[in-house]
Formats: sequence, structure tokens, C-alpha cells
Amino acid sequence: MSKKWRLTDRTRTLLTLELAIALPAAALMGFSIWNLKHIQRDKAIEAAIQRDFSYVLKIAEKESWERANDLVTPVRKGFPDLDDGPKTKAILEHILLQHPEYSYAALYDKKTNLLISRTQPSHDQDAAYCAYAQEDINMLLSWLPLESPSMVKHLRRMEEKGEQPVAFYGGWMPRENQTTYWHIAYFIPPGVPKDRVAVGVVAFDEDYMRKNFLPAVMKDVLTGKSSVLKADANPPIMMIHPLRDSNPWLASAKWDGGKPEAERIFADVFPSMVLAIKYQGTTVADIGARFLHYNYTILAALSVLMIGGVWLTYRNVYREMTLARLKSDFVANVSHELRTPLALIRLYAETLELGRLTSKEKYQEYFRIIREESERLTSLINNILDFSRIEAGRKEYEFQETDLGELVHSTLESYRFQIQQNGFAFEENISPDIPPVKVDREAIARSLLNLVNNALKYSKDRKFIGVSLYRSNSSINLEVRDSGIGIPANEQEKIFDKFYRCGDPLVHNVKGSGLGLSLVRHIARAHGGDVLVESEPEKGSKFTIALPFATAPQTGSATA
Ligand code: ADP
Repeated sequence: MSKKWRLTDRTRTLLTLELAIALPAAALMGFSIWNLKHIQRDKAIEAAIQRDFSYVLKIAEKESWERANDLVTPVRKGFPDLDDGPKTKAILEHILLQHPEYSYAALYDKKTNLLISRTQPSHDQDAAYCAYAQEDINMLLSWLPLESPSMVKHLRRMEEKGEQPVAFYGGWMPRENQTTYWHIAYFIPPGVPKDRVAVGVVAFDEDYMRKNFLPAVMKDVLTGKSSVLKADANPPIMMIHPLRDSNPWLASAKWDGGKPEAERIFADVFPSMVLAIKYQGTTVADIGARFLHYNYTILAALSVLMIGGVWLTYRNVYREMTLARLKSDFVANVSHELRTPLALIRLYAETLELGRLTSKEKYQEYFRIIREESERLTSLINNILDFSRIEAGRKEYEFQETDLGELVHSTLESYRFQIQQNGFAFEENISPDIPPVKVDREAIARSLLNLVNNALKYSKDRKFIGVSLYRSNSSINLEVRDSGIGIPANEQEKIFDKFYRCGDPLVHNVKGSGLGLSLVRHIARAHGGDVLVESEPEKGSKFTIALPFATAPQTGSATA
């Protein structure tokens, strides 16, 4: 018969340790290493993104400065001279007509403290426009007398360095419930002698700045050749906001809100204006948060696995410990059980040897005792041998077609005398319609004897044993009933475990090894059936071995 691979307690413990602890631990370690690498990589990506974005913003600032400078330079070159006198205003008007991007132009002479100005002539009909422009000019006149010397000094220094003497200034101003940006370029008109403090001013039209100038800069930076982000699949987007207000004042196409990745203050061209940039849709922080969430999930799953592993190991260790305790109980029980019949046999044999017995009946009785005790010994040794074979996976069954009724009857017959001698009422019911089945005769007989023997052992005053063999719908049932001490419900499953003996004190006064029922179960299962118990403490028990009709043996070495 083929041998079946079986799990011993040791392999089970090792497997549990490996599967439930070592594997998750290894997975956790692997995951942590992978994670660290990922974090490193993510940090590098984040740093690269930050670096790229900062670079883009720097380019944007430079480009807007160049554009503004390019706009102002020709205007500066055609600006009126201090000597132009009454013609000054006409020249300013001429310039403004040619350059609708300015809202006004002005020439200030510190010496005379005179500010000659002209608002954009193309807007002369727009009273509100003219009023705002005039308001700005008045503001200019309020601070130019004080500021113009340092402005000129700064411009002269630029000139000395070979740069265009043009500078910019601007700021935010609330106007009709909205924030507007005023922005001027100031310079030294070409003909002004070095020792004179005079400043030319042109103010950029806000509409032009907002609708043309700044959008063009943003578009250029985001899509132009200079952009380092050009190849990226997720397009970057930009917006401009006041220094003290993070809400967008102007945004590039597709701006979708959210926190920008990088910002830069336009210090030189547009004071107090902040340029911000980010990726469309998601931010790096969002990606990080998602990554973190994902990591937490994996960690939680691995932790659950580990906890499961610890629990399983605990259970296994606990089981091993219980088994070790049961085994030591078993050794004590078995030695005791072996010793008692041997001592009796020896005692009676010695008495017989002395030949002092007078009556024939006495001889008979002594022979009977010796036979019974040696039978008890044989059955105990058989149980132990069977058990050790099962444990080693070597137990084999020999199935042969059997008349179960005859087998049960003859097995009980050899026991009947002992049963009755112990004062038990005995009832045997063998149904005549039992079909022949393939069983291992010896194993079935041993199971029956174990059950009957238990009924004998675990009964106190009500001495009754009933054995029935009958056919049910799906099986042939071999039933052993008693009116003994019964088994508490919580122990009814455990009694089939090897070495298990109930906690009842009476049980411990009775000899036993805790092997009988585990063997019965092993045998029943090897026949494709099972053994069931119904019992109530103080009322009695009923054990039923249920065997399927066409007993198809599972295997010769099924596990108990
Ligand atoms: P043993 O009888 O050698 O202790 P078994 O495996 O045959 O071992 O039985 C296990 C335990 O089940 C017994 O110790 C006893 O506590 C309980 N038991 C078995 N049969 C009966 C029964 N008929 N009535 C009450 N308790 C029983």
C-alpha cells in the first residue's frame, strides 16, 4: 500500500515558524529595503523637480526683465530733453500715441521741482482712466522730490557699468474692490547732464501687463525652447500672486488651483509680485502622500501576517507543551498498567507452581485470571504498538470482505464472560441485513473492544452495556452504549486526541493510557468513516463507529 506523506508535530511547528514568522519577517525586511531605496529615489526626484522649477522661474524673471527693458529703451531714447521746454508735453504725447502699452509718461526736474506729464492720449475720452492715471501722477509727484536723487544715483551707477540706465518699480493698490498692480519704468533721459537730477517715467498700462506682457512671458517659459520641462508628460502650469496674498492674480492656461511647488519674487522687474509654478493635477506632496498611504497599507498587511504568525506559533508551542505533559502522564500510566497484570500473573503462576491448591475450581479460577490478565496485557501492548505504528506513519490495514455481524458477535463472545462477571447487564443487537463490507477485521475488533472496555471502566453503579450493529441510510453503524459516568460536553471532542484523559477524578482512579479512542478514530477514518460520541454526565455515553457501505479504504496509513 502506498505511503501517504504526513505532517508530524515537529514539521508543523517548523512550517509554522517558516511560513508565519520567517516569511513575513523576510518580506518586511525586503519591503523596508525597497522602501528606503524608493524614498531615496523620491527625494532625488523631488529635489530635481524643485531645481528645475527654480530654474524655470529664474528664466521667467530674466525674460520679463529683458522684455520690459526692450520696451522701454526706444522710449527712453526718444524722450524729451530738459531744454525742450514747452515742446515737452507734445513729445510725451507723441511717444504715448506710438506706445499704447503705457498709461502715462512724465519728466521730472529736481532743480525746478517740475513734473511735466501726459496721460495716454488714446484714452482721453475715458474719464475714469484719465482720473486713475492722474491719481498715479500725483502720487509720483509726492515722492519724487525726496526719492529722485537716490534713483538717479542708482541709474548713473548702472550707466557706468555699461548697462542701460533703466529701472523698474511697482506695487499693489486696492482699486474698486480689486487689487491692481501699478508699474513704472524710470530712467535718465539721454540729454541730461551728469550733474542734473532729472528722471523720465513711463507707467505700464495694467491691462496690457495683465493681458499681453505677463501671459506672453509665461507662455514662452512654459513652452519655449528655454524650458527644461518641455519633455515632461505632465505639463507644468504657472500663476502670479501678490506677495501678501496667495490667491492667483493671473494664471496660465489650465491652472487648477492647489499649492505651487516653487515660487519666486520678481524682485528686479515687478516688486512684490510672486511667480509660482506646479504640475497640473497633482503635486509632489500628493504623490508622496499616496506613496505613504500605500506603504502603510503594505506594512499593516505584513503586521497582520506577523501577528498571525506569532499567534500560530504560540498555539503550536502550547500544543507541543500539552503533548509533552500528556506523554509523561502516559509513560507513568502505561508502566503502571503493564506492571499490574504482570504482578498478578506472576503471583498466580507461583501459587500454581507450589501445587498447594486443593480444589479443581481454584485451579480453574487461577488459570482464568492468568488468561484474562495476559489478554489485558496483550490488548494494551497491541494498542501501544498500533499507536507507535500510526505515529511513525507505518500503520497498514488489510481490508478484506467481511461479514460484520459475525465479526462483532464473535468478538463480543470472547468478552461476554468478563462483562457479566463484572455485574453488567449486556445487550447485543445485530441486525440481519448487514451487507458484506471490506474492513480490516483485527482493527475493527480492536475498536469494538476498546469501546466495550471503556464502557466497563467508566461505569459506577448503573452497570449496563449495549452493543448494536445496524444499517442506516448511508452507513453501517456499530454502537456501544453504557449508563456510566458520561463525558462533559467541552471534553467530548478532546477525548479522541492521543493521551487525553478526562478531568473527572474517577477517570484517574481507573487505569488507562489515553490511547484507545485515538486509535478507534484512526481506524474508523482509515475505513472512510468516523466515530461519534453522544454523552451526558451521570447519564451515560453512546459511541458510534459509522462505516460507509462500500467501505473504500482511504489508505493504509491515514493519520489519527
Ligand atoms: P483511556 O480509557 O485509556 O484513558 P481512551 O482514549 O479510551 O483512554 O479514553 C479517553 C478518555 O475518554 C478516558 O480517559 C475517559 O475519560 C473518557 N471516556 C472514554 N470512554 C468513556 C465512557 N464510555 N464513559 C465515560 N468516559 C469515557
